[in-house]
Amino acid sequence: MPATPPPSRDRPPALLLSAAAALVAVLATAELVTDVAGLTAAGGAVAAGIGGAVLRRQVPLRAVEERGLWRWVGHAAVAVAVGLALEALVDLVLRGDAAAWARGAPLTVAAVVAVLCAYQGLLSWNRFRTSASHPADWVNAAGSVLCTLALGAYLLDASSLVTDGPGWAVEGHVVRLAALVVLAVTTVVVTVVGGLLDDPRAWVLAAGLLAMSAVEVVTAPLATGAAVAPAPVLPVVLSWTALTLVAAGSGAVRPPILRGHFASSQVVTVCALLAILTGVGVLVAYALHPGDWLLVPVLAAVGVLGGCVRMFRTIHELAFVASTRKEARTDPLTGVPNRRAMLETVDRFATSRTGAALLVIDLDRFKDVNDRYGHAAGDVVITTISGRLQHRLAGTGLLARFGGDEFAVVIDDPDLARASAVAAALREAVREPIEITGRVVRLEASIGVASTAFGDHRDGELLRWADTAMYAAKRSGGGVRVYDEDADARERAELALADELRVMLTTDDERFGGLELHYQPQLDCTDGAVVGMEALVRWAHPERGLLPPVAFIDLAEQTGSMFALTERVLAQATRQAARWQAEGRDLAVAVNLSTSCLEHPRLLATLDHVLADAGLRPEHLVVEITETTLMHDPRHAVAVTRDIADRGIGLSIDDYGAGYSSLTYLNELPAGELKLDRSFTARLTSDDRTRAIVSGTLDLAHHLGLRLIAEGVEDTATSEELRRMGCDRAQGFLHSRPMPADAADAWLRERDVLTAAGARVLPAPGVVRGPVLPTQVTAP
Ligand code: C2E
Ligand code: CA
Ligand code: CA
Repeated sequence: MPATPPPSRDRPPALLLSAAAALVAVLATAELVTDVAGLTAAGGAVAAGIGGAVLRRQVPLRAVEERGLWRWVGHAAVAVAVGLALEALVDLVLRGDAAAWARGAPLTVAAVVAVLCAYQGLLSWNRFRTSASHPADWVNAAGSVLCTLALGAYLLDASSLVTDGPGWAVEGHVVRLAALVVLAVTTVVVTVVGGLLDDPRAWVLAAGLLAMSAVEVVTAPLATGAAVAPAPVLPVVLSWTALTLVAAGSGAVRPPILRGHFASSQVVTVCALLAILTGVGVLVAYALHPGDWLLVPVLAAVGVLGGCVRMFRTIHELAFVASTRKEARTDPLTGVPNRRAMLETVDRFATSRTGAALLVIDLDRFKDVNDRYGHAAGDVVITTISGRLQHRLAGTGLLARFGGDEFAVVIDDPDLARASAVAAALREAVREPIEITGRVVRLEASIGVASTAFGDHRDGELLRWADTAMYAAKRSGGGVRVYDEDADARERAELALADELRVMLTTDDERFGGLELHYQPQLDCTDGAVVGMEALVRWAHPERGLLPPVAFIDLAEQTGSMFALTERVLAQATRQAARWQAEGRDLAVAVNLSTSCLEHPRLLATLDHVLADAGLRPEHLVVEITETTLMHDPRHAVAVTRDIADRGIGLSIDDYGAGYSSLTYLNELPAGELKLDRSFTARLTSDDRTRAIVSGTLDLAHHLGLRLIAEGVEDTATSEELRRMGCDRAQGFLHSRPMPADAADAWLRERDVLTAAGARVLPAPGVVRGPVLPTQVTAP
């Protein structure tokens, strides 16, 4: 963004400039009336001096990108002022031949200097933000002037306007004309190419320069042949003065906001091209119609050479830009395109008519290689893999390195079968053994495949799909995975749910519902007495209804909310257990503890806290910990469970038999109960092997002094069989599904009534009971 110049102080002193213009007008009239040559030039010198001073004073007020331009325009005005002053001296002081020879020369020199200054100003504006102007730009300017000169001289020669006797009047006109034309053309090119089309100042300057060129053209013939020619000089003096004042006054015009680009090399290149064309044109014309002045082709040839120097410079610059562009787009380690270059290519391929497929490849456990063998070895692995992938692709796709151990391949064909085949081949290439420092390493890759055929793939969707598929592949242990929209949607919904859970747990925000505990009775197998309740958590979600643990327990574990959840479950469960105790029911309440909870540093403190808060004796709380959780870090598990048991809290080994546990540790654990996994209970009556395992487990449990509880008891046959085999306790749908606290109360009261009636409480065969269905009474 260009800095906007402060508006109030930016106005040029209009009064001062008007006074200067008036002074010139008065002196010009005086010169015409009195015939004293040099008066106008003197006035012009003063006016141009004022213009220069105004311009220089205003430089700091300009927008940053314009300051260089205006500084140089200020220099140009000063040069014009000096030239006019010398011109006035020539007229007022010198007489005769000396005056005739000198007349016009100072102004010509000053004009050329002024034009050069203005040219430098344009260059500095044009090059703002890129680089300083290069010497080649100047060679170019000189070449342009020479070519224009050659053109002018050729036209003069052709129109048989030959020499003008003594003095430099005609030569002055031609030189100034050439300089003005070059400056005018440069201005127009900067205006058009540099995005200044809506800047009125650019057009005022170009128009002024062209008008002055016209003045020079018109007045040149008048100077021909005249030994002393004061009259024709007058318009020239006036026009240069006027230009200076106009330049100084144009500060009053507010520049539009700069939107266009800075054309830099483009402008000078266009100018060089114009110069070369002009020079070549003159040479061709001269060849067809040779004139008397040999100077013409010489000037043209030198001018063309100048233009060519600039062209070579441009080519050099372009080559440099191309090479830096390439450097910015390749991966330094492997030499293949980098992420940035790849994203551009993917965009291009994806939006093409045929469409594209994208593979994202991530090496598995590459970090291990780095950690174990060092980064140098890691680099070797990356280069080796990159080479292999490229070899295997053999031109069917474009390989890029996304950084780290991630690669991508884009194929200009959306066909999924083909993309998957390529992915499989690339995976094989990765899996081949690699030798580093004398050792053989085998790597695996997870590859995600996506295609534009999946639908709207704008805004980088293709890459997101491929990434998602790659992560899915990684989670499932590596290999190739094609993007699955449904799975992605599910995953996103899960993430959203996990987030709601986290917010609900940390803020108690009721908009996300709350946790509820359902209780499932545990019965003594011998007399059917209710001896415990397992607390099972549910999430009463405002939109999705009552969510079972499968819907959120894993999410809570993955997102670190598990302990917060367990704290609430423990608090609710112990309060409920205390209530039952207060009612005189001898029930223990069991709560499930997950792996992260067992390893949580605040677990013991939390247990103490909830027990104290609820006023519950520790033996009325049981924690259920699965075999898998206990085996996660057996040493730690033994230590923590000892601390739990030391408090008097019961410990039950949940899902026993479903996992893999070591008998050694089992012996060390201070558990009071083994909870036989549901899968054994379910097959107990139908499968002899299962029956044998259960029987063996019972023996083992009793031998170790542990109680056995069977979960998932759904029918009377199983219940009866368990009782016969000597199982201690049972829990399952046969007795009741898990139910909310009030339903559990009702269920318990009902049992009280039945027990009071002296009945042995056993359900009807084969009937699976809901929570509030009455349980059938069988006569003893
Ligand atoms: P679990 O600890 O094995 O809990 C028993 C699960 O088996 C419960 O499922 C219960 O409804 C179900 N079940 C009970 N009897 C029968 C039956 O006769 N047949 C069949 N097919 N299923 C029966 P629920 O409530 O869906 O809980 C599932 C799992 O979620 C629990 O398995 C437990 O691992 C976990 N969970 C529940 N609440 C909590 C909690 O507060 N903390 C932790 N960490 N995990 C919990
Ligand atoms: Ca359990
Ligand atoms: Ca269980």
